Parts: sequence; C-alpha cells; structure tokens
Amino acid sequence: MLDNLTQRLAKVVKTMRGEARLTEANTAEMLREVRMALLEADVALPAVREFIAKVKEKALGEEVIGSLSPGQALVGVVQRELAALMGADLGPDATQLSFAQQPPAIILMAGLQGVGKTTTTGKLAKYLKEQKKKKVLTVSADVYRPAAIAQLESVTKQVGADFFPSTANDKPVDIAKNALDWARKHYHDVLIIDTAGRLGIDEAMMQEIAAVHAAVNPVETLFVVDAMLGQDAINTAKAFNDALPLTGVVLTKLDGDSRGGAALSVRHVTGKPIKFAGVSEKLDGLEAFDPSRMANRVLGMGDILALVEEARKGVDAQAATELANKIKGGGKFDMNDFKAQLTQMKKMGGMSGLLDKLPAQFQQAAAGANMDQAEKQVRRMVGIIDSMTPGERAKPELIKANRKRRIAAGAGVQVQEVNRMLNQYDQMQTMMKKLKGGGLMKMMRGMKG
Ligand code: GDP
Repeated sequence: MLDNLTQRLAKVVKTMRGEARLTEANTAEMLREVRMALLEADVALPAVREFIAKVKEKALGEEVIGSLSPGQALVGVVQRELAALMGADLGPDATQLSFAQQPPAIILMAGLQGVGKTTTTGKLAKYLKEQKKKKVLTVSADVYRPAAIAQLESVTKQVGADFFPSTANDKPVDIAKNALDWARKHYHDVLIIDTAGRLGIDEAMMQEIAAVHAAVNPVETLFVVDAMLGQDAINTAKAFNDALPLTGVVLTKLDGDSRGGAALSVRHVTGKPIKFAGVSEKLDGLEAFDPSRMANRVLGMGDILALVEEARKGVDAQAATELANKIKGGGKFDMNDFKAQLTQMKKMGGMSGLLDKLPAQFQQAAAGANMDQAEKQVRRMVGIIDSMTPGERAKPELIKANRKRRIAAGAGVQVQEVNRMLNQYDQMQTMMKKLKGGGLMKMMRGMKG
C-alpha cells in the first residue's frame, strides 16, 4: 500500500525518539513527511490539507498525554484520523446496504468501464443471496457492448441468482423499467442494475445513467472505482457524485499493487462511505469495508488478521488456527507455541515474506539484516527448543543455569545463545499478551519508539 508513508513514519518515529513531548516544531516535521507521502500516493490535495490540519489539531491537543513517546503518539493520531478519513467517523452502520424500499430494493451500479462493475454486480448478488437470504435479479443496461450483457448473465448464473435478459436494441431506461416490473411480479427482494461504462467521463453517459436513476429511484447508487487509479479516480468520483445522488462506494482491486491513494480521496471527494472492497477476480472476493483495518494496512502496522489468514492458507493450517485461537482465547503461550511459530515462519515464505506483515518499526529494524543469517538463526532456535524436555517447554521459567548448560550442550551452542533465545521468547510472550488484550494500538505502544 502506501509504502512511502510507512517508511516515512518509521523514520520520524525514530528521529523523534529523543524528544520528551510533542511540540509545534517536531510535529510540523513529522506532518511534512506525512503530507509528502500522501501526495506521492496520489491522494487529492484538498483531502491531504484537511487531513494534516486535523492531525495537527489533535496532536497538539491533550490526546497525546500519557505514557506514549511523542513519535508513537503521533502515529496513533495519524492512524485514527486515517480511519476517520476512510469512514470510521460515520459509525459501523455506514457500510450496510439499505433495503428501505418497497421491494424490490434497487441497487444501481455506476462507474467507468473496466473498473469491475459487472464483476462486482455478480459478487453483490452472491453476497445478498448467501449472507442476506435475498432473492436477487440482475439486469444489464449496457446497450453498447453486447459482450457486457453476456458477461453479466454468466456471473449471475454462476452465483445462482436470476438474470433479466436485455438486448442492444433496447433503451437503458426501458430495460430498467421492464426489469423492475418483472422483479415485482416475481417477488424479488433486490434488483441490481449494471450500467454502461465509458473509458472516460462523457456527458451523454452521465445523462443516460441519471435518466435510469430518475426512472427507477434506487435506494442504493453505488459508485464502483478501481483502487489502482490515482488522480483519475478523484476526477471520476467528482463527476459521478455531481451527476447522481450516490449512496456509497465500492473500491475494487484492492488486492492489486495499489498505491492506496484512491481509498483516501474518494471518500473525501464524495463524502459517501466506502461500503465494500473488491479483493479478487473471483466472485467471493468482496469484503465489507473496514476503515480501521484499512488504516492499519495503509500504515503498515502489521495486520495480525492478515497474518493469521496467510498462515491458514499455508501448509500447516491446523497449527496456525490453534495458535490464533490461543492468542484470542487468552491461553498460555509456551515454548511449544514459540517453536510452532518459528516453524510457521519458515513455511510462510521465510523471514522476508513474514517481514512484510510486521509493523513498520520492525521492518525498519530488520532492513539491511542478512536474511540468510536470520533463517540460520531460526534453525538454531528450533534446535535449542528441541533440546528442552517437555516440562521445560511447557514452563520455560524452570530453565535455570544448570538446565541452560545442558540445553546448550544438547543443541551444540553457547549458553549465551540459549539466554538470547529465552529473551526473545519473553518478548514474543509480552507481545502476544498485548495482542490479546486489545490489539495493535496497544502493541504499538509497547514498542520502544
Ligand atoms: P466493468 O467493465 O466495470 O464491468 O469491469 P469488469 O467487471 O468486466 O472487470 C474488469 C476486470 O477487472 C476483469 O478482468 C475483472 O476480473 C477484474 N476485477 C474486477 N474486480 C476485481 C478485484 O476486486 N480484484 C481484481 N484483482 N480484479 C478485479
């Protein structure tokens, strides 16, 4: 995501390490870095300005008093404000679809060609059918590309929803009205209308979709936008928002190599909540948008959920799930878990693969470290754990001088190395406790900034 933002923030946290509190001067320096990172990520200038002003106000206010270092406090404010900017300020209900309409509830899909409108229509039909138990009808008002109508028919059939056929000879407004009649007669709960997209904004297209909107009065008008688009996303969002009373945004292709700017500015430009995120080409690749989680991802704070999901996909799904449950359930984290975790690391593409998932500050610390060396280190640690008795593994606090010597001899290492490993285990255990007790913000505070 916003790699530069992550790196810039880590740098500022580091340079602010010596400072006792947030001042105008050190805050200004950090905000300059944040501002540049956001602009580099194609976030719209007005959004950046407003964001910086808010962070500054909060940072210099009383919110940062406490046991945090100034750098950590400021990153905390940036995280909260990023989440707010992406919709956390609207409350958890803002991402819900409304069905407050005499059935069928109508959803109108708007957006440029190629952004993923038709795919998203299929994903939504699947979501509504499976999660909300709705009877769904889809229809395409794209009379310019017969292939688009066939594509919608195909995705609709794949998800087992109903499809209303249309042809290139029909008028978009008539198609929408006819589909609505059909949906009423056949007791559909939801009608999703996919519309034509052009490669750029044009007046005729805006009038056409506005006419469809006026004819059927949808309860939801969703603007579909590709997260990979930079400044273009902002301009299109503005044009669609002016032409139509949008009720929400779907941000597609978040699984791609996006710079993330669109997520930040589209909400700002339209004032409408991002309701869903598209995360794969497949029809189950639709997620409810979560602003806080997105802010963590943007900041590179290490999304523990992503980590667990990754592990789940990995070779040893069972062990990863057990570990995740253990963390969540507040179970004890012992040497066996530590070993399982070290082994998992290797399976998940080694240290470098795992690094991407860790908080920015860890990444910074590890940058430049020799990865081969690190992998060897992991193998030695596993060797040390293997030299412990089951009792020692379950209760590492038992391990005193005598036992340390025995373990070191068994693993063929120096006693110092056993000590170092026990320290690392202690740190890991502390981190696990923090994760258990309230998540990433706490974990961040626990780290020396
Ligand atoms: P439309 O012209 O707006 O209807 O766009 P389509 O639905 O035809 O999608 C255009 C391309 O984007 C297709 O290749 C889709 O598979 C792809 N696509 C749509 N949504 C996503 C997504 O969330 N992630 C990824 N990776 N690809 C997507």
